[in-house]
Amino acid sequence: MDFTLSKEHKDIQKAAREFAVGEFPDVAREFDLNETFPKKILDKARKLDLVGLFIPEAYGGPGLGFLEHALVLEEFWKIDPGIGQQLCSVSFGAEELLLFGTEEQKTKYLAPIFTGKAIMGFAITEPDAGSDTAAVATTAVRDGDDYVINGSKVMIGNGTVGTFMLVFCLTNPDEKSKTARHSVIIVETDREGYKADKMDGKMGLRCSDTAAVYFNNVRVPKENLLGKEGHGFIQLMHFFDRSRAYVAAHGVGLAQGALDQAVKHVRGRKQFGRPLGAFQATQFKIAEMATKIEAARNMVYKSAWLLDKGMADTKLTAMAKLYACHVAVTVVDEALQLHGGYGYFNDYDIERFYRAAKVLEIYEGTKEVEKIIISREILGKL
Ligand SMILES: Cc1cc2nc3c(=O)[nH]c(=O)nc-3n(C[C@H](O)[C@H](O)[C@H](O)COP(=O)(O)OP(=O)(O)OC[C@H]3O[C@@H](n4cnc5c(N)ncnc54)[C@H](O)[C@@H]3O)c2cc1C
Repeated sequence: MDFTLSKEHKDIQKAAREFAVGEFPDVAREFDLNETFPKKILDKARKLDLVGLFIPEAYGGPGLGFLEHALVLEEFWKIDPGIGQQLCSVSFGAEELLLFGTEEQKTKYLAPIFTGKAIMGFAITEPDAGSDTAAVATTAVRDGDDYVINGSKVMIGNGTVGTFMLVFCLTNPDEKSKTARHSVIIVETDREGYKADKMDGKMGLRCSDTAAVYFNNVRVPKENLLGKEGHGFIQLMHFFDRSRAYVAAHGVGLAQGALDQAVKHVRGRKQFGRPLGAFQATQFKIAEMATKIEAARNMVYKSAWLLDKGMADTKLTAMAKLYACHVAVTVVDEALQLHGGYGYFNDYDIERFYRAAKVLEIYEGTKEVEKIIISREILGKL
């Protein structure tokens, strides 16, 4: 076993840290307040190969691994979760394209993420199908050489700024098994009948784009089918085995950023004639926060490392997501507590981090869904 990061890993980590420290702090608060999409920062990050790190060079990407991607996301989220979220989500769904796309699809859709202005998304959730993804009702019906898509999605990342979406559709409604009824279809957002309305008023991650998306007789060629018809649900589970590792990395980054802010505050702030950090109650809080973060980080790195070795581990990745996101929510709560009343005002970054954290326990599988997955892996189907 070797727990050390290589020189290359450390260089990438450093590059991401310097980029985030240089670009995020001046604008993060304002972008969050005004829900401003961080376009210039995104364009710079693309040029520096700091997005979609796991995408192979053959398809225009940096050609690194899942671990490198996780390291970069951790650094981004440490400085600002909102901008970190948007830089991560530009390639959201690329894992699925890499796993199940044809050579032609991978080249056509992934390369422009780096060489052009492409932004992708993955539209799964619907008003009546959240945790229960097998209940998705947006239909894709074959008509000659095309699919015709009708339905609506909700809370979709990059719905209004994306150039194409992977769309989870109902293609085989008569199949007996509810896990054999769906397919994933690539939809370019400039196709007739595609409409997206930005969903304003998010609690956190406010500079990232989230939208309600509508498909009204959207026609796409049959070549836009990803993988096999009726295999969409199984494909989706393989996708989550990868994407959850990233969300777990978000949790570690957010928690570390919150801890860093708390440490700075308790060193400087004096009460009863001493810095807050001189009280043992404070010291114990800091020790507990740091310990939880380290445990979460190890789970995240291990699950990303296994992915790089081609050994995706459903249970471990779900555990990493469950634990790291719980750590983020509890650590940021304690970090804000240590700021006292000042933490309740947006002059302090901790207020923004606090609002950002909660979604980590909701998207990419709620914490309850992660527990269902973990326990099913242990107990089997009873
Ligand atoms: C900021 C943001 C960005 C998002 N981005 C995307 C995106 O890009 N693409 C996309 O497709 N979706 C996206 N989502 C949607 C997200 O994936 C869903 O919100 C999530 O899957 C939960 O679905 P739901 O909101 O319908 O909650 P529900 O499924 O209605 O769940 C509500 C509560 O009930 C619990 N629950 C549900 N079923 C069970 C059960 N069987 N046992 C125990 N408890 C249960 C849940 O855990 C949860 O606590 C995003 C959401 C947010 C907030």
